[in-house]
Order: sequence, then structure tokens, then C-alpha cells
Amino acid sequence: MRCLIASLIVSLLVLSGGVIGSERSEYTMGSDGPLPTSQQGLLLQHAELHFTILPKEKAINGKGILTLVSDHSRNNVGINLDNFFSIDKVLINSKVIDENQYSNPEGLLLINLPNKIKGKFTVEIHYSGAPREAVKAPWDGGFVWAKTSSGKDWIATAVQGEGCDLFWPCIDNPIGEPKTTTMHITVPKGLVAAANGTLQSVTKGETTDTYHWQALSQLNTYGVAINVGPYEVIKTTFHSQYGNEIPVEFYHLPENKEGAKKLVQELLDITTFFERKIGPYPFGQDKIGVVDTPHLGMEHQTINAYGNNYITDKYGFDWLMFHEFAHEWFANQLTNKNANAMWLHEGFGAYMHPLYEYYLHGQTAYMSHMFDMRLKVRNKAPIVSKELLTVEGVYQEEKGGPGADIYAKAPWVLHTLRNIIGDEHFFKATTELVYGTAKPTPSDFKPVLADTEDFLRIVNRLTGQDFRWFFDVYFYQSALPEVIQSKTDTRLTLQWKTPNNLPFPLPLDVSVNGKVLTLDMTKPQTIKVLPNDLVIIDPMSKVLIEKPHVANYQRFIEESTK
Ligand SMILES: [Zn+2]
Repeated sequence: MRCLIASLIVSLLVLSGGVIGSERSEYTMGSDGPLPTSQQGLLLQHAELHFTILPKEKAINGKGILTLVSDHSRNNVGINLDNFFSIDKVLINSKVIDENQYSNPEGLLLINLPNKIKGKFTVEIHYSGAPREAVKAPWDGGFVWAKTSSGKDWIATAVQGEGCDLFWPCIDNPIGEPKTTTMHITVPKGLVAAANGTLQSVTKGETTDTYHWQALSQLNTYGVAINVGPYEVIKTTFHSQYGNEIPVEFYHLPENKEGAKKLVQELLDITTFFERKIGPYPFGQDKIGVVDTPHLGMEHQTINAYGNNYITDKYGFDWLMFHEFAHEWFANQLTNKNANAMWLHEGFGAYMHPLYEYYLHGQTAYMSHMFDMRLKVRNKAPIVSKELLTVEGVYQEEKGGPGADIYAKAPWVLHTLRNIIGDEHFFKATTELVYGTAKPTPSDFKPVLADTEDFLRIVNRLTGQDFRWFFDVYFYQSALPEVIQSKTDTRLTLQWKTPNNLPFPLPLDVSVNGKVLTLDMTKPQTIKVLPNDLVIIDPMSKVLIEKPHVANYQRFIEESTK
């Protein structure tokens, strides 16, 4: 979850810079930046992560054993880890290496290898200390050390903006996704640790218990999550239309049992919807998972964070849980190649809401949600920036990032595209984008890394047309296309106005006295219109266009809230 109100995002980011963030290395606080040489050509085959959680000290003892594969012979390796941790020991292929062979001045732990290494090797890092405490999770992330209403410890991680290196040694970039992961989380007795994948066993100690989790699916780097609380769990099974049976687990606080029961049913219905519209639940070999968290929410793969207080929503389902769960397809299965394609996560994720509302309730719910989003379209910067941005940069409108437009404008662009190419092509293109294959079945796809251009290529291939002009205007320009109207007593001429006069042959519906004409707008179009005729441009709201009344309303709201 990221906040839908850009100004709030901005103020929170500023706040983080001024309070805790300023002490932290800027490098650690960023995520998905360009890869340093010491991390190039690496693949993370397996991450074995051990954590001892010390709630009283608000600290952790950690050990990470990364099985890496290098595609070239290398002298060194760079691992991201917050430099606020002390590094107690580093081992390469299980052999301790000398302290002067590694250093971590600003969060890129650079380790000189004892010999040149190509192929598979392990890096083991023992570390300890107080992880960055979230200023306001999930927007400004780190560890959340909270208490339940009965005074028990309630702990969560949320690091989407800042990255995995806030609490485990990783490659803080989508190329660093571990193929498989095991987590061993030791917590004081009476608490339960919930994490990604499936629970293998619990080792009971005198004063602590250790929860052993294993994820067989490749995890998003920021998706690796620790959740600790006095949890109870509701378990059931999802019977997929693809024939597989998937475990469902909802870890909830004891006081939230009734709410959690209701959400489990919603979760089953939502999964059915996604399987029908997009394709198989991507992580069936692990689980469908949700956990009660002290922050609003985050798309932690197979253990989605939920903190929406079980409120009743006007559309009849929990929007927050839906949003995080949509990210299992759009973020965790389909991951952006870099932060510039963040709209693939948030835009597709946000567009799934009105699509689900249509699926449940029909057109009014769909259009009502679309109109709410239309009022939030800001057009201050393109959805896809020209310069490569970090994750935080994407959310900073004042620095040229698209900000909240990835949530509001991108769904409108998708709505427009769907109206132009039709449902069949639109959903086929989406399925292929998500799975890398047209007909995914539960066992025959891998996680996909893609960007905006990949989506364009799929759309072009399926439709047999070139939609470069559509992507150029809607994704790579900030201003919206505008319909310019000029009138005489008997004629109305309509033509597109686009940034830099870019070509824009988008067909346009016009209603004249209730009769709808579809105009081919490859060039200016003139129609017969008499002075008393009633003309409505785009009467069914099929396309995203500049609307003066929306811009006026936005100005009014902005001024009245100053
Ligand atoms: Zn989101």
C-alpha cells in the first residue's frame, strides 16, 4: 500500500528526512537504484535468513546465508545491508574471512573474496543491532514495534520504499529476488512469527520459540516480511479452477477473530475473480496468506499485511486487503524491471478495484470508482519518467516523479486502452504480461520482470496494430490529450490537441441529440450541428481526456485546503 494522496506522501517523505532518515545513509534509504559493479552478474539462488527478535531492546540478531551465482569471475561482492548494524562475522563458502577484507561505510557491504569466484558460492553475514524504526509505516518504512490492546508485543516490517537492506543482507534491486527463501524467526514465548511461504516447524525453547518458514516461490525483495504477535490462525483451502488446492492462512490477533473470518471468505471470492480475469494464483505451492499488522498494509508475498481495522466498505469488500492481494499478480508475479515501471504494480492493481466492483455489482460501482480516480489525476509528470528514478523518486512529484498518478491516471489509461482494443485483447495482453505466456497453468510459469515497452510489444502483437502513439501520449507525456472544438452556425469541428503535437488517432464518440457517432480522429472531423443541438463528447466516458471542469474543481480543492 502506498498513500493515494500525493501531498501526504510528500510530507511524510520530508518528515522522514528530517527525523530518523537523516541519520541513515542515503544509499540505504533508496531502493532499486543503478546496480554497482560489485553486484552485477549475480543471481540469488537461495536466502537462508535467521532472526532473533528482541522486543525489549527493539533490536535483532541476524544471520543471512546467501547462495549466489556469479556469471563471471569476480574478486569481490557487494551486499546491501544498513550500516547501522554491526557486522559480527562474514564467511565466504563457510570460511570466516578477515575483518579487513570487508567494509560497509554506507550500506553497500563490499567483501573482497579470498579467491576469484565464478559460479555458485555462499556469503554468510552475522549482524546485530537496532533496525531502522519506521516513522510511519508503510509509507516510511522499517520495523514497527507496537503493542496490542492487551499490551502484547506486535511487530512488523514494511520496507517497500527503502528496501530489504533495512533488516536483511540482500541485493536491493529486482534482480536480487531470492529464488527460494527460508526464514528462522526466534521470538519470546507467547508470540507467534508469521512469514512468507509455509510453516515447516516450530522449535520450542525455554524462553523463546523459533518458527521455521520456507518459501518455494521467488520472493520480491521488499516482500520478505517478519510479523510477530500473539497470533491465532484461521486455515482453509482454496479450490482453484485450475485444479490445484491452495492453503489459505489468516494470522489475526485473538480480538479480531470475527472480522478475520469474514475476510477469509472475501479472500476466497477475490482469488476466484483474479483467476477468472487474469490467471492462476501465482504462489499456490506456498499459500494465500494475510496477517494482522499494526500498519495499514503492504503486498508481502503470501503473507499480505492487513491493518484496515475490518471496516465496512461501500463496495462490499475490504479495499485494503483487495489492494494488497492484487499485488500478488501485479508486483509479486509481474515485477517491474525498474522503478519507472511502478505503474505496472500500482496502476494495474488500482484498476482491478473497479473491475472487481463491476464483477460484483455492475456498471454504477465501476463508473463511480472511475470518477473518484479521475478527480485525482494530476498530470504533473509523465507516468513513466525519462530519467531512471528510484522507488522514492517515483513518489516524489516535486522531483519529477509521477506520484499518485500511478494510482489514478494509469487505471484511466488502462480503461481507455481496454475500450479501444476490446476486452478480449486487453485481458489476453494482461495475462501475457503477468505470466509471460498466453495460457498459464499453475506449474508452467515463472516470475516475470517487465516494463512499459514490454506491455506495448504484447498489445501490438495481439492486436496487429501499432499503439506507440497511444503509449507516447498517455505514458510518456504529462499533459492529457485535449479535444479542441470550433463551431459555426451549422458545423462543429473536433480535433485532438496533444503535447508536442504528437500523433493521436484515438477514435472518439460524440452524441448529438442522443445519437452517438464514432469519429475517426486521425484528422480534424467536422459534423453537422445546429445551434440548439445537444452535443456530448465521449458520452460513455470511454477515454481519458482533459476536462476543464475537473481541472477547475481540483484547483478549488487545492486552494480551499491551503
Ligand atoms: Zn499498492
